[in-house]
Amino acid sequence: MCVEPNMNNLEHLRAVAARLSLQDVARPVCPRCGTGRLDLIEERPHAIYGALGVTWKTLKCDAADCGAVTVE
Ligand SMILES: [Zn+2]
Repeated sequence: MCVEPNMNNLEHLRAVAARLSLQDVARPVCPRCGTGRLDLIEERPHAIYGALGVTWKTLKCDAADCGAVTVE
């Protein structure tokens, strides 16, 4: 077997970077100002549906002049 560990690490890093940038693009636009992106600042299990994997998410707009907090 001829395995090149450095190449494997590079491929891994590239895959991680691709996932991170996808997540960034997937961040929802703030419904209040329409320009900021919502950051996930807290996530906790739902009181009733937590056992099913449902969570409450607290999202905060990253626009400096908005900062709206949304819970969904
Ligand atoms: Zn906003």
